[in-house]
Amino acid sequence: MEDKVTLTIGKQKSIALIAHDGKKPLLIDWCMENKEILQQHVLCGTGTTARMISDKTGLTVKGYNSGPLGGDQQIGAKVVEGRIDLIIFFSDPLTAQPHDPDVKALVRIAQVYDIPIAVNKASADFMIKSAFMNECYDHDVINFQKNIDQRAKTL
Ligand code: PGA
Repeated sequence: MEDKVTLTIGKQKSIALIAHDGKKPLLIDWCMENKEILQQHVLCGTGTTARMISDKTGLTVKGYNSGPLGGDQQIGAKVVEGRIDLIIFFSDPLTAQPHDPDVKALVRIAQVYDIPIAVNKASADFMIKSAFMNECYDHDVINFQKNIDQRAKTL
């Protein structure tokens, strides 16, 4: 069994949108600017962010719980299940967050599963204009079955 498995991010992407309170206006404006592209994909987000984007842009965004109430963890779980392909996360580096461990956990799990994650507007701009947005993309992800087999044998 290989250490990695090749997974394919489809042409139509499942995109998670999250913004901390101080960054919500920035993300809403960004969604408005990129509405034509975003509406070709499947959108979700933490509760308040999702609701505000839907209300202000007309985009359909499925909302999970609010971030401080577990929304980031719900999105992280979807990454693990292979159900989120890309994350736009405008976090606020200048404001302490009550759910800081959840924020770190989401960034970490995106790294583990090699999921593109933009944590500021410039990264999001580069990502949304990437040629990969209109193509399938193969990436190598840790083979969790092999990982469990090995750990169960050796620990
Ligand atoms: P919210 O959560 O969209 O419910 O405000 C975002 C966050 O702070 O993680």
